[in-house]
Amino acid sequence: MKASSYTCFIVSIFVLFSISSAASYDPVDFDAFLQCLPQHSDHTVSIAGAILTPNNASFLSTYQLRANNLRILLSATSRPVAIITALHPSHAQAAVICAKRHGFQLRIRSGGHDYEGLSYISDVPFVILDMFNLKSIDIDMKTETAWVQAGATTGELYYSIAQKSDVHGFPSGVCTTLGIGGHFSGGSSSRQSVLQDQVRLLQSSDSQTRVRDLMASFDGH
Ligand SMILES: Cc1cc2nc3c(=O)[nH]c(=O)nc-3n(C[C@H](O)[C@H](O)[C@H](O)COP(=O)(O)OP(=O)(O)OC[C@H]3O[C@@H](n4cnc5c(N)ncnc54)[C@H](O)[C@@H]3O)c2cc1C
Repeated sequence: MKASSYTCFIVSIFVLFSISSAASYDPVDFDAFLQCLPQHSDHTVSIAGAILTPNNASFLSTYQLRANNLRILLSATSRPVAIITALHPSHAQAAVICAKRHGFQLRIRSGGHDYEGLSYISDVPFVILDMFNLKSIDIDMKTETAWVQAGATTGELYYSIAQKSDVHGFPSGVCTTLGIGGHFSGGSSSRQSVLQDQVRLLQSSDSQTRVRDLMASFDGH
Protein backbone atom coordinates (compact mmCIF):
# COMPACT_ATOMS: atom_id res chain seq x y z
CA MET A 1 0.00 0.00 0.00
CA LYS A 2 1.39 3.43 -0.97
CA ALA A 3 2.07 5.91 1.82
CA SER A 4 -0.77 8.25 0.74
CA SER A 5 -3.28 5.38 0.55
CA TYR A 6 -2.13 4.12 3.90
CA THR A 7 -2.57 7.59 5.47
CA CYS A 8 -6.00 7.88 3.90
CA PHE A 9 -6.96 4.48 5.32
CA ILE A 10 -5.84 5.47 8.82
CA VAL A 11 -7.69 8.81 8.64
CA SER A 12 -10.85 7.04 7.44
CA ILE A 13 -10.71 4.60 10.31
CA PHE A 14 -10.18 7.46 12.76
CA VAL A 15 -13.07 9.52 11.36
CA LEU A 16 -15.33 6.47 11.32
CA PHE A 17 -14.43 5.68 14.90
CA SER A 18 -15.00 9.27 16.02
CA ILE A 19 -18.36 9.52 14.31
CA SER A 20 -19.62 6.19 15.57
CA SER A 21 -18.87 7.09 19.17
CA ALA A 22 -20.44 10.55 19.10
CA ALA A 23 -23.90 10.63 20.63
CA SER A 24 -26.18 13.01 18.77
CA TYR A 25 -29.50 14.38 19.96
CA ASP A 26 -32.24 16.74 18.86
CA PRO A 27 -31.68 20.29 20.25
CA VAL A 28 -35.46 20.63 20.52
CA ASP A 29 -35.51 17.75 23.01
CA PHE A 30 -32.68 19.36 24.93
CA ASP A 31 -34.51 22.70 25.18
CA ALA A 32 -37.61 20.87 26.35
CA PHE A 33 -35.51 19.05 28.93
CA LEU A 34 -34.11 22.34 30.27
CA GLN A 35 -37.58 23.88 30.45
CA CYS A 36 -38.93 20.82 32.21
CA LEU A 37 -36.46 21.02 35.12
CA PRO A 38 -37.84 24.09 36.98
CA GLN A 39 -41.37 22.76 36.60
CA HIS A 40 -40.51 19.75 38.74
CA SER A 41 -38.24 21.22 41.37
CA ASP A 42 -38.68 23.17 44.57
CA HIS A 43 -38.68 26.90 43.81
CA THR A 44 -37.11 27.90 47.13
CA VAL A 45 -33.75 26.78 45.73
CA SER A 46 -33.57 27.63 42.04
CA ILE A 47 -32.42 24.78 39.84
CA ALA A 48 -30.99 27.28 37.35
CA GLY A 49 -27.79 27.49 39.36
CA ALA A 50 -27.43 23.72 39.30
CA ILE A 51 -27.54 23.26 35.53
CA LEU A 52 -24.24 23.09 33.66
CA THR A 53 -24.14 22.79 29.89
CA PRO A 54 -21.03 22.75 27.67
CA ASN A 55 -21.43 26.55 27.41
CA ASN A 56 -20.58 26.96 31.10
CA ALA A 57 -16.92 27.60 31.96
CA SER A 58 -17.00 25.05 34.79
CA PHE A 59 -18.67 22.29 32.75
CA LEU A 60 -15.48 20.45 31.79
CA SER A 61 -13.76 20.72 35.16
CA THR A 62 -16.91 19.55 36.95
CA TYR A 63 -17.21 16.64 34.55
CA GLN A 64 -13.61 15.54 34.97
CA LEU A 65 -13.08 16.21 38.66
CA ARG A 66 -14.82 13.14 40.07
CA ALA A 67 -14.23 10.71 37.21
CA ASN A 68 -11.83 7.87 37.92
CA ASN A 69 -11.83 6.36 34.42
CA LEU A 70 -9.43 8.31 32.21
CA ARG A 71 -11.45 7.37 29.12
CA ILE A 72 -13.19 10.68 29.68
CA LEU A 73 -10.07 12.42 28.41
CA LEU A 74 -10.38 10.78 24.98
CA SER A 75 -12.04 12.93 22.36
CA ALA A 76 -13.94 9.85 21.20
CA THR A 77 -15.70 9.58 24.55
CA SER A 78 -19.09 11.27 24.42
CA ARG A 79 -19.71 13.94 26.99
CA PRO A 80 -22.98 14.54 28.79
CA VAL A 81 -25.37 17.05 27.28
CA ALA A 82 -25.72 18.58 30.74
CA ILE A 83 -24.69 18.09 34.34
CA ILE A 84 -27.26 18.73 37.04
CA THR A 85 -25.32 19.55 40.19
CA ALA A 86 -28.32 19.14 42.49
CA LEU A 87 -28.56 21.77 45.23
CA HIS A 88 -31.83 20.42 46.66
CA PRO A 89 -33.32 16.90 46.70
CA SER A 90 -36.09 18.08 44.38
CA HIS A 91 -33.45 18.83 41.74
CA ALA A 92 -32.59 15.15 41.68
CA GLN A 93 -36.23 14.32 41.27
CA ALA A 94 -36.59 16.84 38.44
CA ALA A 95 -33.57 15.35 36.67
CA VAL A 96 -35.08 11.86 36.87
CA ILE A 97 -38.48 12.99 35.59
CA CYS A 98 -37.24 15.27 32.81
CA ALA A 99 -34.48 12.99 31.52
CA LYS A 100 -36.96 10.17 31.15
CA ARG A 101 -39.61 12.37 29.61
CA HIS A 102 -37.30 13.88 26.99
CA GLY A 103 -35.29 10.82 26.07
CA PHE A 104 -31.95 11.39 27.77
CA GLN A 105 -30.24 8.63 29.67
CA LEU A 106 -29.52 9.56 33.28
CA ARG A 107 -26.21 8.75 34.91
CA ILE A 108 -26.05 9.40 38.65
CA ARG A 109 -22.73 10.23 40.22
CA SER A 110 -21.92 10.58 43.90
CA GLY A 111 -18.22 9.97 44.51
CA GLY A 112 -17.31 9.00 40.94
CA HIS A 113 -15.36 5.91 42.01
CA ASP A 114 -16.91 3.67 39.42
CA TYR A 115 -13.88 2.61 37.40
CA GLU A 116 -16.09 1.41 34.55
CA GLY A 117 -17.45 4.92 34.29
CA LEU A 118 -21.08 3.91 34.76
CA SER A 119 -21.78 7.16 36.57
CA TYR A 120 -20.28 9.44 33.93
CA ILE A 121 -19.84 7.67 30.55
CA SER A 122 -22.46 6.58 28.04
CA ASP A 123 -22.72 5.89 24.32
CA VAL A 124 -26.14 7.52 24.05
CA PRO A 125 -27.12 11.14 24.79
CA PHE A 126 -27.05 11.44 28.55
CA VAL A 127 -27.32 13.76 31.52
CA ILE A 128 -25.26 13.44 34.69
CA LEU A 129 -27.07 13.95 37.95
CA ASP A 130 -24.14 14.98 40.14
CA MET A 131 -24.80 14.68 43.85
CA PHE A 132 -21.65 16.25 45.29
CA ASN A 133 -23.43 19.34 46.62
CA LEU A 134 -25.88 17.28 48.66
CA LYS A 135 -23.63 16.19 51.47
CA SER A 136 -25.32 17.01 54.76
CA ILE A 137 -24.69 14.63 57.66
CA ASP A 138 -27.03 14.67 60.66
CA ILE A 139 -26.00 12.50 63.55
CA ASP A 140 -28.36 11.64 66.40
CA MET A 141 -26.34 10.23 69.28
CA LYS A 142 -29.46 9.31 71.27
CA THR A 143 -30.61 6.83 68.64
CA GLU A 144 -27.09 6.18 67.35
CA THR A 145 -28.21 6.85 63.80
CA ALA A 146 -27.20 9.22 61.04
CA TRP A 147 -28.94 10.71 58.01
CA VAL A 148 -26.39 11.17 55.28
CA GLN A 149 -26.96 12.67 51.85
CA ALA A 150 -25.66 10.87 48.77
CA GLY A 151 -22.93 13.38 47.92
CA ALA A 152 -21.08 13.04 51.21
CA THR A 153 -17.99 10.86 51.21
CA THR A 154 -17.20 8.02 53.56
CA GLY A 155 -14.36 10.11 55.01
CA GLU A 156 -16.73 12.98 55.77
CA LEU A 157 -19.06 10.56 57.52
CA TYR A 158 -16.24 9.05 59.60
CA TYR A 159 -15.04 12.52 60.54
CA SER A 160 -18.52 13.72 61.54
CA ILE A 161 -19.03 10.70 63.77
CA ALA A 162 -15.60 11.18 65.34
CA GLN A 163 -16.50 14.78 66.17
CA LYS A 164 -19.53 13.54 68.12
CA SER A 165 -18.09 10.51 69.83
CA ASP A 166 -14.85 8.87 70.88
CA VAL A 167 -16.32 5.39 70.87
CA HIS A 168 -18.64 5.24 67.85
CA GLY A 169 -17.72 4.46 64.28
CA PHE A 170 -19.21 3.29 60.99
CA PRO A 171 -16.99 0.69 59.32
CA SER A 172 -17.72 0.85 55.60
CA GLY A 173 -14.43 0.74 53.74
CA VAL A 174 -10.85 1.97 53.83
CA CYS A 175 -11.13 4.52 51.04
CA THR A 176 -12.30 7.88 52.36
CA THR A 177 -13.38 9.47 49.08
CA LEU A 178 -16.09 6.96 48.17
CA GLY A 179 -19.47 8.58 47.60
CA ILE A 180 -22.18 7.52 50.01
CA GLY A 181 -24.62 7.30 47.07
CA GLY A 182 -22.74 4.67 45.08
CA HIS A 183 -21.18 2.90 48.04
CA PHE A 184 -24.33 2.41 50.11
CA SER A 185 -26.63 1.64 47.21
CA GLY A 186 -24.78 -1.53 46.34
CA GLY A 187 -21.33 -0.61 45.07
CA SER A 188 -19.46 -1.66 48.17
CA SER A 189 -17.06 -4.52 47.62
CA SER A 190 -18.92 -6.99 49.82
CA ARG A 191 -22.66 -7.50 49.62
CA GLN A 192 -22.61 -9.20 53.02
CA SER A 193 -20.40 -6.64 54.70
CA VAL A 194 -20.86 -4.82 57.98
CA LEU A 195 -21.97 -1.85 55.89
CA GLN A 196 -24.89 -3.72 54.40
CA ASP A 197 -26.03 -4.73 57.87
CA GLN A 198 -26.08 -1.16 59.05
CA VAL A 199 -27.81 0.69 56.23
CA ARG A 200 -31.45 0.54 57.17
CA LEU A 201 -33.23 3.23 55.24
CA LEU A 202 -32.59 4.81 51.88
CA GLN A 203 -34.56 7.48 50.12
CA SER A 204 -34.94 7.31 46.41
CA SER A 205 -36.62 9.30 43.71
CA ASP A 206 -38.27 7.94 40.59
CA SER A 207 -40.16 9.40 37.70
CA GLN A 208 -43.55 8.28 39.00
CA THR A 209 -43.62 9.35 42.62
CA ARG A 210 -42.28 11.85 45.06
CA VAL A 211 -39.15 10.96 47.00
CA ARG A 212 -39.92 7.68 48.69
CA ASP A 213 -38.37 5.57 51.39
CA LEU A 214 -36.95 2.12 50.87
CA MET A 215 -36.86 0.23 54.11
CA ALA A 216 -33.95 -2.02 54.89
CA SER A 217 -33.21 -2.50 51.22
CA PHE A 218 -29.65 -3.50 51.78
CA ASP A 219 -29.91 -5.55 54.91
CA GLY A 220 -27.28 -8.25 54.54
CA HIS A 221 -29.30 -10.94 56.35
C1 LIG B 1 -10.20 3.48 44.85
C2 LIG B 1 -11.41 2.70 45.32
C3 LIG B 1 -11.45 2.27 46.62
C4 LIG B 1 -12.54 1.51 47.07
N1 LIG B 1 -12.54 1.10 48.36
C5 LIG B 1 -13.56 0.35 48.82
C6 LIG B 1 -13.57 -0.11 50.18
O1 LIG B 1 -12.66 0.18 50.94
N2 LIG B 1 -14.62 -0.86 50.58
C7 LIG B 1 -15.67 -1.18 49.75
O2 LIG B 1 -16.60 -1.86 50.19
N3 LIG B 1 -15.70 -0.74 48.45
C8 LIG B 1 -14.68 0.01 47.98
N4 LIG B 1 -14.69 0.45 46.67
C9 LIG B 1 -15.86 0.17 45.82
C10 LIG B 1 -16.84 1.35 45.91
O3 LIG B 1 -17.61 1.23 47.07
C11 LIG B 1 -17.78 1.35 44.69
O4 LIG B 1 -17.00 1.60 43.54
C12 LIG B 1 -18.88 2.41 44.83
O5 LIG B 1 -19.87 2.14 43.86
C13 LIG B 1 -18.36 3.82 44.67
O6 LIG B 1 -19.41 4.73 44.89
P1 LIG B 1 -19.25 6.24 44.38
O7 LIG B 1 -20.49 6.98 44.75
O8 LIG B 1 -17.95 6.81 44.82
O9 LIG B 1 -19.14 6.03 42.80
P2 LIG B 1 -20.01 6.56 41.58
O10 LIG B 1 -19.14 6.34 40.39
O11 LIG B 1 -20.51 7.94 41.82
O12 LIG B 1 -21.25 5.57 41.56
C14 LIG B 1 -21.08 4.15 41.45
C15 LIG B 1 -22.39 3.53 40.92
O13 LIG B 1 -23.47 3.87 41.79
C16 LIG B 1 -24.44 4.66 41.09
N5 LIG B 1 -24.85 5.76 41.98
C17 LIG B 1 -24.04 6.70 42.54
N6 LIG B 1 -24.75 7.53 43.32
C18 LIG B 1 -26.03 7.12 43.25
C19 LIG B 1 -27.25 7.59 43.84
N7 LIG B 1 -27.26 8.67 44.65
N8 LIG B 1 -28.39 6.94 43.56
C20 LIG B 1 -28.38 5.85 42.72
N9 LIG B 1 -27.27 5.36 42.13
C21 LIG B 1 -26.10 5.99 42.40
C22 LIG B 1 -23.73 5.20 39.86
O14 LIG B 1 -24.62 5.51 38.81
C23 LIG B 1 -22.78 4.06 39.53
O15 LIG B 1 -23.46 3.03 38.83
C24 LIG B 1 -13.62 1.20 46.19
C25 LIG B 1 -13.57 1.66 44.87
C26 LIG B 1 -12.48 2.40 44.44
C27 LIG B 1 -12.42 2.86 43.01
